[in-house]
Amino acid sequence: MDLLDTSGPVDHEQVVFCQDRSSGLRAIIAIHSTRLGPSLGGTRFYPYATEADALADVLLLARAMTYKSAAAGLDLGGGKAVIIGDPKKDKTGSLFRTYARYVDSLGGRYITTEDVGTTVDDMNVIHTVTKHVTGFARADGGSGDPSEATGWGAFSAIRAVARRLWGSDFLTGRHIAIQGVGKVGSHLAGHLAGAGARLTIADVSPEAAERIRDRHGASVVAPDAIHRVEADIYSPCALGGALSPQTIPEIASPAVAGCANNQLATPDSAQLMADRSILYAPDYIVNAGGVINISYEQAPGGYDHDRAFAHCARIGETLERVFDVASEQNITTAAAADHLAESRLDAPRE
Ligand code: NAD
Repeated sequence: MDLLDTSGPVDHEQVVFCQDRSSGLRAIIAIHSTRLGPSLGGTRFYPYATEADALADVLLLARAMTYKSAAAGLDLGGGKAVIIGDPKKDKTGSLFRTYARYVDSLGGRYITTEDVGTTVDDMNVIHTVTKHVTGFARADGGSGDPSEATGWGAFSAIRAVARRLWGSDFLTGRHIAIQGVGKVGSHLAGHLAGAGARLTIADVSPEAAERIRDRHGASVVAPDAIHRVEADIYSPCALGGALSPQTIPEIASPAVAGCANNQLATPDSAQLMADRSILYAPDYIVNAGGVINISYEQAPGGYDHDRAFAHCARIGETLERVFDVASEQNITTAAAADHLAESRLDAPRE
């Protein structure tokens, strides 16, 4: 990949490669944009097969953060980081402290938080080295794990999808198929079950699936079968790429709304869904609850849970605007979400 070609597809402001022999750290921090404010995005800890895979992932994820924060109306830019390794085996205090020094060296241009493979405890360790971290423990003035807010915001999005499809956001008896019931998927499952929805779930971790089956009476299917479940809404909440030219023809729900980042596997995936009249709720609109919640850590007077969660509950309204723009302009919902974000990014700044 040619990172410095200004006519190429990579338009990130800065990409930082971090390597440290003594702690074993191998990480990449990507700052996509600081146009609206400091770049903020989580640190993903994942056993990437190659450095090229890690780089491709972090570049995509960082750009998605720019669009997510812009569309959510936040004064934050987009960034992301990946640590290459197995979070079950490779996490050490020394590795996180070394990583935190790299974050600190960016002087606040990049602010980190949790993502797949990292937790509040990890953020607490990072917080001992740098102030440029969010999502650390509530007891220390942080907003804690963002996944609760992400699940709450996604619930608001799913109700907006229901209003659009059926004229009512009453979810009793509606059937939702969730791919991945980790941190966010399990919170979302709780809200949906509380609203009376019927759940079918899949997770590559049998323990994660069993927990949600036992807690909410969910049916469990194999991970490669979840998108084929005849549900009312399919909710990808695992890793990226769930919506591909292979899976889209097999999706058996009239709508897709989930928390996973980068759900569209290819540039034409949104159009492929539109061609099948599947209503797609763009991922970065649906899953903005985490970053909205975190933005309240920087509010005057400090973090306020109720105000932050009330803001997350308005994600459904943003999604309705996206659906309106898509139908008025006869474009995909993904393109409509991009227009919303770009209209903020391109607006003159004082
Ligand atoms: P997580 O690691 O806690 O959960 C992911 C779950 O998906 C795990 O239980 C894992 O076993 C399962 N999984 C992985 N591959 C799967 C597959 N092929 N089929 C079925 N299950 C599979 O991570 P998380 O924090 O819940 O994040 C999930 C997604 O949501 C990610 O894409 C993340 O980037 C996105 N997201 C998370 C947040 C947040 O606040 N945590 C915010 C915005 C976006």
